[in-house]
Amino acid sequence: MHCPFCQHPNNRVLESRSAESGRSIRRRRECLRCERRFTTYERIEYVPVTVIKRNQEQELFDRSKLLRGIVRACEKTTVSSQVIEAIVDDIEAELQQRQHREVTSAEIGEMVLTQLRTINEVAFVRFACVYRQFQGIRDFTDTLSQLQGEPPGGRENQADHGRPLTYSLPSAVR
Ligand SMILES: [Zn+2]
Repeated sequence: MHCPFCQHPNNRVLESRSAESGRSIRRRRECLRCERRFTTYERIEYVPVTVIKRNQEQELFDRSKLLRGIVRACEKTTVSSQVIEAIVDDIEAELQQRQHREVTSAEIGEMVLTQLRTINEVAFVRFACVYRQFQGIRDFTDTLSQLQGEPPGGRENQADHGRPLTYSLPSAVR
C-alpha cells in the first residue's frame, strides 16, 4: 500500500479495528518516510453469484430483492428487521462460501423456508404460499405438515399424489 502523499511503499500500522459492523477492518497507518497518516479498509471480496430462475433466465444475486421478499412474508408478525437481516446475511454468506457461483432460485427459496420454519410459522406459510404456488389444499397441508417436522406428502400420500409440488418464486427472489 503506497503512501497517498509521497508514494513510499512502506508504512506501519498504528491501530486496527473492526468497522462497518464487523464487515471490514479499519487500519490507521503511518508512512515510514513522510510520517503522514492515512486509513485503509480491508473487506471480504464478494464474488458475484448467478441465480438461475425457473424460466432458465439468469441474473445476479440481489440481496435487496431477497430482503424484500422476506419482509413481505414477515409483515405484521413478531419477526424483527434484525432477524430478517440475519436471515439474508446467512444466505448470502452460504452462497459466497460455495464452490459454484450459480444457484437456482428454487434453492434460495428453500433456504429461506428452512430458516423461517424455526422462526415464525405465519411467515413460513406465507412465503411458501407465494413461492411454491400452491395448486390446491393438498400442497397447503403438505407445507403445514413440514412445519410439524414430517416429510412433505407423507409416505401414505405418495400413491394418490403423483404430482410434485410446483415451484415458483415470488417476484422478490426471481
Ligand atoms: Zn509518505
